[in-house]
Amino acid sequence: MALIVQKYGGTSVGSPDRIKNVARRVAKFKAQGHDLVVVVSAMSGETNRLIALAKEIQTNPDPRELDVIVSTGEQVTIGLLVMALKEQGLDAVSYTGAQVKILTDSAHTKARIQHIDDANMRADLNAGRVVVVAGFQGVDAQGNITTLGRGGSDTSGVALAAALKADECQIYTDVDGVYTTDPRVVPEARKLKTITFEEMLEMASLGSKILQIRSVEFAGKYNVKLRVLSSFQEEGEGTLITFEEDTDMEKPVISGIAFNRDEARINVIGVPDKPGIAYQILGPVADANIDVDMIIQNVGQDGTTDFSFTVPKGELNRAIKVLEGVQSQIGGKSVSGDDKICKVSIVGVGMRSHVGVASTMFRTLAEEGINIQMISTSEIKISVVVDEKYLELAVRVLHKAFGLDQQG
Ligand code: ADP
Ligand code: ASP
Ligand code: MG
Repeated sequence: MALIVQKYGGTSVGSPDRIKNVARRVAKFKAQGHDLVVVVSAMSGETNRLIALAKEIQTNPDPRELDVIVSTGEQVTIGLLVMALKEQGLDAVSYTGAQVKILTDSAHTKARIQHIDDANMRADLNAGRVVVVAGFQGVDAQGNITTLGRGGSDTSGVALAAALKADECQIYTDVDGVYTTDPRVVPEARKLKTITFEEMLEMASLGSKILQIRSVEFAGKYNVKLRVLSSFQEEGEGTLITFEEDTDMEKPVISGIAFNRDEARINVIGVPDKPGIAYQILGPVADANIDVDMIIQNVGQDGTTDFSFTVPKGELNRAIKVLEGVQSQIGGKSVSGDDKICKVSIVGVGMRSHVGVASTMFRTLAEEGINIQMISTSEIKISVVVDEKYLELAVRVLHKAFGLDQQG
């Protein structure tokens, strides 16, 4: 008998039939004698619909009120799932984030969980009830409803598992595990039996939407046994996120390929090549609360240099305005932006002990005539920025070049 936290994503609860299907799966685990806490997302498409609705009233929605609106998606699903569980003859109860008391900070639309009160849930579990909790949402110290950022139900699931010291956290989704890359882009992608926390963190932070990055951080920090599985298959082990590296000698050096369509590049041309210039450019951008990812400063010539960096696509116009505002102080000939770029990254702990990974990556892209605009590396990843029209091609050829394609 174990305590299991199961999280079901939007597609898995996307229709009444699918919710009934989730209820059947929960009943099966319950019949095996397990205690269950079930975290659910909004039905697929619902969060997008609610955001679009808000934007019809306010182009830039008020963050507090936006959280009031988008959190309703999950509230509908918890009610529906408890009804479906009752139809299965199970005793169950639903909780919103505020009812559990999932306490967060007050950063609306991207709040962080600070504490979870487990008293109500424990009492229900002890009474034999299935506990159903709304993912993606919490409440701040003042009682305001908050949400955890897109994909945040993953983090709700893992955080609840950590708070309850659950034996396992199972993330049920529309694929049967973590693949070498998004199987929607590369049909030859292979399912991984295991992936290390370190690699999963990189994959998530570099754009793989299979798990929200904070959920992986939580699982690593609190030692939560985390598994990704399909809600559409009865059997299957899914992918286990582990602390141990796979020591199989035959294993490819690269574990996976991630990509991100959501970045844009800014070029600041002809700035004086002198100490402090990076700070003068990036300081005001940081003050405007815009995240900067990759940064390149070219070697100076004739006392001037070019400076490029990437920001989220949605922040491009704001970042350009900020820089135009300070251009007279910085000097520099022009500020321009390009939102037709994407970032492709290869990830793998095997890189630590292998040479030539970068050259294989660059050669593979060159052979396809794909120009690399920016490069950044860490111990276990190499990222490049390329024209967005090459995204699929780049991911596919790299997948093949590093031996990740499915056999046969
Ligand atoms: P949910 O609604 O269940 O949270 P998401 O859409 O957030 O589901 O995440 C699942 C999707 O993640 C898959 O359908 C797949 O297209 C995408 N994905 C991206 N990278 C990967 C990967 N490396 N392995 C598996 N799926 C991936
Ligand atoms: N419903 C939220 C979203 O679409 C949270 C989630 O699905 O994890 O982002
Ligand atoms: Mg998700």
